[in-house]
Amino acid sequence: AKQEGRNQYRLYTPKMNDKALQRLTMENELRKALEREEFLVYYQPKLDLCSGKVIGAEALVRWQHPRLGFLSPSEFIPLAEETGLIKPIGDFVLWAACKQNKDWQDKGLKGICISVNLSAVQFQQKNLLQKVTHCLTEVGLNPAYLELEITESSAIQNPQMTIKTLKEFKKLGIQLSIDDFGTGYSSLGLLNQLPLDTLKIDKSFIRDITSDKDSQAIVSAIIAMSHNLGIKLVAEGVETKDQMFYLKEHHCDQIQGYLISPPIAAEQFEKFLQPDYHI
Ligand code: C2E
Ligand code: CA
Ligand code: CA
Ligand code: CA
Repeated sequence: AKQEGRNQYRLYTPKMNDKALQRLTMENELRKALEREEFLVYYQPKLDLCSGKVIGAEALVRWQHPRLGFLSPSEFIPLAEETGLIKPIGDFVLWAACKQNKDWQDKGLKGICISVNLSAVQFQQKNLLQKVTHCLTEVGLNPAYLELEITESSAIQNPQMTIKTLKEFKKLGIQLSIDDFGTGYSSLGLLNQLPLDTLKIDKSFIRDITSDKDSQAIVSAIIAMSHNLGIKLVAEGVETKDQMFYLKEHHCDQIQGYLISPPIAAEQFEKFLQPDYHI
């Protein structure tokens, strides 16, 4: 029996141990990463299709890991959400993005709106409004230059809470956006009750937009609906000129994607803010 037990140990436990250990290590490193200032914020430009100018950017977090190198959000955000560490990480991103935007304005660059992502865990924090207000006043940033993005799936988790929270943010003068739109089955009734400035069409609908009839039908319906509700549209994941032309022809307002630029460091982003930049 002892022998058998040992075999079983060999067969199953080392692997499980490995995984559990890896996770625990990662969680500890995630905790330390904040103190060690290993996180940084990248910016991805948003282009206005009417003027051909960059009118904003989305802030996207990165982790410069001491051993593993440059990590993208998919490699640590899920664990950060499970452990609640997304809250302090999210606070860091909010402050970094607001301070950066204030710097750009103090340097005399064109006023732009920076969007910051809020995951469901962050959105449900009781003191969120207080935190955001505090950040804006401390930094001295005009609230109109901050946009908060919440995903459609977190917006529908508790519709009454979403309506209440977004209305409070709107009173402050912050821009509000629903991210990954089209993937979360929200109702027209709910959309109509939310004080939204923007909807971001999920990139899965943009990928085949120039050829796939279903994607075209969905995107056309989203654009018509939003414009009727007075909401602007951003298409994300735009990678080709043909996609851009299609979207412009169909009255989409803004695009974001590798065609314009991948997410980049703040210093690199500044070139998009020069007066002579034009696509
Ligand atoms: P998201 O909010 O939907 O962000 C857009 C993602 O699409 C980004 O991935 C961006 O790099 C990527 N992307 C941009 N243009 C293109 C394109 O043309 N083609 C394709 N295929 N992809 C494109 P990223 O930076 O890896 O972020 C992934 C997700 O991680 C984000 O999805 C967001 O949900 C989450 N995330 C990133 N930063 C933060 C943050 O500061 N806070 C929170 N709560 N979540 C974040
Ligand atoms: Ca987003
Ligand atoms: Ca998105
Ligand atoms: Ca997405």
